[in-house]
Amino acid sequence: MSDVAVHAIRFASRAGVRGQHFLGYDDRAQEPHPTAYHVWLVTSGEHTVLVDAGIDPDGYVPIDGLEFHGSPLDGLAALGVAPGDVDLVVLSHLHYDHTGTVAAFPRARYVVQRAELDYWTGPVAARIRREQWLVSRDDLAHLTGPARDRLDLVDGSAEVVPGLEVHHVGGHTAGMQVVRVATASGPVVLASDAAHFRENLTADRPAPILHAVPDVHAAFDRLVELAGEDGLVVPGHDPEGVTPDPSTRPLVTRLA
Ligand SMILES: [Zn+2]
Repeated sequence: MSDVAVHAIRFASRAGVRGQHFLGYDDRAQEPHPTAYHVWLVTSGEHTVLVDAGIDPDGYVPIDGLEFHGSPLDGLAALGVAPGDVDLVVLSHLHYDHTGTVAAFPRARYVVQRAELDYWTGPVAARIRREQWLVSRDDLAHLTGPARDRLDLVDGSAEVVPGLEVHHVGGHTAGMQVVRVATASGPVVLASDAAHFRENLTADRPAPILHAVPDVHAAFDRLVELAGEDGLVVPGHDPEGVTPDPSTRPLVTRLA
């Protein structure tokens, strides 16, 4: 892609504690740990790609304490993008905080790992109580119903538009995928929840909500490998490391 720009759109924040974000006993578990909620927009002369669909403030919001800065769609509008302009929506995984506006894009194709869709529509997820609140059945029903003929299922790695690749990493969820974008300043790797916070990656400590611990560690390795020497890994929920434009609602940051 030529003239590639990558923006983070922070549509919500929440006052968390460290114990919510690092697996295992931690004597700092009660310390404050602010949490941010993002979607990412990748634009070029040829394509408008939304990575993750966030949460619709007027839709399924199963947790308390979220402070919305706006809808993810407001963030797109702040960047001059209407829902009908989006030609591709890459869903890193199918947790509710990454799928909330999926029904808003009338002509987009959706890119999901086959393993992710199979897991959430299969018999095992339905038996695991904790999984029930993590997924929006309405969003899932949209993908498998009205949008089914615009749903592209990927197995592993794929270049979905020139210069934008998806890579299955698993770990956080069965079909967790990350996105690598080639930009003029080097590769940008949108980790989403393969690394919620930079410290998950640098301290080699998984977040507690996960599918398979060994795969979370393997995903950390894969993120580092995909970024290479000059790349940037962008964690999914980390408010640090990005400086949003305070004049925008939601808060928008240009990453590349
Ligand atoms: Zn998330």
